[in-house]
Amino acid sequence: MNGSCDAVVLGGGVNGCAIARELSRDGMKVVLLERGTIGCGTSSNSSKLIHGGLRYLENGQFGLVRESLKERKRLAELYPDLVKMVPFYLPVYNDSLRPWWVIRLGLMFYDVFSRQPLYRSRRVNKRDFSSRFRDIKASGLSQVYVYYDGKTNDLELTRRLALDARDSGCIVREKCKVEDIIVAGGKLEIKYTDDGGKYSVETPLLINATGPWIDEVNERYGLPHNYRITKVSGIHIVVNRELVPDCMFLQTQNKRIFFMIPWEGRKTIIGTTERVEDGRCDEIKVNEDDVDYLLDCANRYLKTPIERQDICDTFLGIRPLIRDKKAAKDATSMSREYKIDVVECRGARVVHVYGGKLTTCLGMAEKVRRQIQDMDDSK
Ligand SMILES: Cc1cc2nc3c(=O)[nH]c(=O)nc-3n(C[C@H](O)[C@H](O)[C@H](O)COP(=O)(O)OP(=O)(O)OC[C@H]3O[C@@H](n4cnc5c(N)ncnc54)[C@H](O)[C@@H]3O)c2cc1C
Repeated sequence: MNGSCDAVVLGGGVNGCAIARELSRDGMKVVLLERGTIGCGTSSNSSKLIHGGLRYLENGQFGLVRESLKERKRLAELYPDLVKMVPFYLPVYNDSLRPWWVIRLGLMFYDVFSRQPLYRSRRVNKRDFSSRFRDIKASGLSQVYVYYDGKTNDLELTRRLALDARDSGCIVREKCKVEDIIVAGGKLEIKYTDDGGKYSVETPLLINATGPWIDEVNERYGLPHNYRITKVSGIHIVVNRELVPDCMFLQTQNKRIFFMIPWEGRKTIIGTTERVEDGRCDEIKVNEDDVDYLLDCANRYLKTPIERQDICDTFLGIRPLIRDKKAAKDATSMSREYKIDVVECRGARVVHVYGGKLTTCLGMAEKVRRQIQDMDDSK
């Protein structure tokens, strides 16, 4: 489109779509520009959980867990066909690095923070567990717990948010290439091309929601910013076998956790990994060591081991985590909290969105809207 609008959102991942939806519903004229297709980035390569993040309790990220649990409820109520509350089993073995009482304590906090008594965690009879999870080793089992979290199809969720935005008047353009961003007279002029030709759109407000590409976008278009990200890749393998009837979290030998999730077509998704990456986003590929790591993790608990030929798909996503010099070596302990960075740009405004989760997209979009409104009110 040519012309002007109130805001341009760059990036059609879950965050960009949620912001476009929120601003359009508020009556703003919004244009969303995505270089690929909606949800083609991180938002279709996640672990597909709408969750509070039980393991973040260990890092003392209570605020994040509490907010995420609130957001989990909101998303499940808004899109019940896409976000389902399902049981997650947590078997604890005699040699697990976290003993059963640590898990129990974590679950108690999780229950309190979630404030949804219907989904309270509980202990499960070991024999019942083993007769249900027939492929999982029973020897050395100490305790089994079950708790509840949300499961989704991340790509479908992102597409739905984009559809909602469109229904509220947002113009959504896919497969477009931003050629240039020029700042003049308190406005940003965004020049882009798509299959239809060359376009130019003027706006006083640009939202940069390009996820892990954010640093590269800032550099390419010379956008002022206050933060940088560390890219942490995470892979999942999809196995052509139905290994578990329900979702299951297990502990690894290095005190991380991994999960097995039943997936469409009697398959199982196993994830995930964390690897700090230096390269450009488009050049980051699945590391074979990470595939071996996930196979090893799973095989420690499986009665019949899985092998490379059982893998029918592998996918990789990149977490854009706010750069933290102290924790740069340890991706697991880096905060998953998002950051909204508002920067004045010669009379115009650029709002950068860093980090976040699928789960918190609506709350984050609301905060972006409020922050913009507060700035307008204080003018
Ligand atoms: C391995 C892994 C597992 C995860 N699991 C979960 C989970 O289970 N639950 C959860 O809540 N969260 C999870 N997350 C986090 C969640 O997936 C991300 O926070 C979320 O998808 C980020 O969305 P986004 O919109 O910021 O980024 P993205 O989805 O990456 O979207 C950015 C978009 O910007 C586009 N873009 C880039 N450059 C340009 C440009 N120049 N012009 C136009 N468009 C551009 C890209 O094509 C892309 O579509 C996980 C993340 C990873 C990596």
